[in-house]
Amino acid sequence: MNHTEKDVAALRAHVDELFPAVQADLETLVRIPSVSAAAFDQAHVATSAETVAGLLRGVGLPDVRILRSARPDGSAGAPAVVARRPARTGEPTVLLYAHHDVQPPGDALAWDTDPFEPTQVGERLFGRGAADDKAGLMAHVGALRALAAAGDELGVGVTLFVEGEEESGSPSFARFLADHHELLAADVIVVADSTNWKVGVPALTTSLRGLVDGVVTVEVLDHAVHSGMFGGPVLDANVLLARLVATLHDDAGSVAVAGLTGAGEPEVDYAEADFRGDASVLDGVALAGTGTIAGRLWTKPAIAVIGIDATSVAHASNTLAPRAAAKISVRIPPGLEPEAAEEALRAHLEGHAPFGARVTWTPGEQGKAFGAPADSPAMRAARTAFAAAWGTEPVDIGVGGSIPFIADLLEAFPQAAVLVTGVEDPDSRAHGANESVHLGELRNVVLAEALLLRQLAGAV
Ligand SMILES: [Zn+2]
Repeated sequence: MNHTEKDVAALRAHVDELFPAVQADLETLVRIPSVSAAAFDQAHVATSAETVAGLLRGVGLPDVRILRSARPDGSAGAPAVVARRPARTGEPTVLLYAHHDVQPPGDALAWDTDPFEPTQVGERLFGRGAADDKAGLMAHVGALRALAAAGDELGVGVTLFVEGEEESGSPSFARFLADHHELLAADVIVVADSTNWKVGVPALTTSLRGLVDGVVTVEVLDHAVHSGMFGGPVLDANVLLARLVATLHDDAGSVAVAGLTGAGEPEVDYAEADFRGDASVLDGVALAGTGTIAGRLWTKPAIAVIGIDATSVAHASNTLAPRAAAKISVRIPPGLEPEAAEEALRAHLEGHAPFGARVTWTPGEQGKAFGAPADSPAMRAARTAFAAAWGTEPVDIGVGGSIPFIADLLEAFPQAAVLVTGVEDPDSRAHGANESVHLGELRNVVLAEALLLRQLAGAV
């Protein structure tokens, strides 16, 4: 099925006409500092939920609710907004996901503008949440407004689910899905919280790495002893920890833990110069690993040491440290289960205890990776819609980080096709200072999503 040029042009005209209102509503949302991190005033998150509910009441979804579920510690989760219009008999239901909370602004001095005062510079709108993920929410709202303006009475069921604590790790998400399973049940789930390939080139995110972490502790002495009196015949725990950590990679910098394997190579690559710039790699530093850069980021495991417990330099004394610990973080590619990855890591660490030191592993968090099927009717519909909106075929991309709630969604709705889309581009700087959305791209996302809903409704 294809969207005719005439249909696309007509819908695009509606999107163009209503886009100033979409931008204005996005700006209103950005002005609400809805930071879900516990140290921030949660009244703003509540205000944000109310504002979102108001927006959703205006897009023809008759049933709008603000809901909370309990977190594992028993406290109340942040308010989510759910709005829906049931499907006509025989039509599918589409769940449109976004989140209305944001990351803390971080260092105010690193911003060129006030993070909570939306500021347009050229084609970009700057502000915390302008991209992640208030633009994702406005893409859903804009698409529904465009279809209404075009007079489409789609039979497809639509449920908008706007979470309020994604940036805090979605602690009540699994419980929320259980509490409201029927309300959220869908055939297709569109998660608008990722990125496009670049300005002008749309993308479907078809792989996301998962996460496994934990703490490894190395013990070698019962207590600290004088490094002059005892140093030589026995190595201190800091040195032994360093030797143990060094076994996690081979000389090329590839992960050297048996069982931590990668998936195939992605279809697009990340130019080395871009990677070096984006990651701020210092001149002269060689990159680690083998194969394409994109593969190293998306489809291969990566191991980082994200914290070390050792005597600080300021407190250093001439003693041999009896004990040292490191927090190890592993990004795991699609196809690798977190439990298997953790077991592989534990076995490696225990099996490489340097000089027979006591090595203990304390598991931490786990998050599943996501790998979309190579193809599905929903993915074909999305690709067709993206191609029509941008005039360019979309590419499949991966993301090296994780969106942990996607695993929860798939577990709750195993039959659903999950489409991971988004409004960001490589310059969006989500989570960083000077976050922004490209307004031309947001306009294309609105159109693409409207076309996708039409196609899922069997209207084209
Ligand atoms: Zn996000």
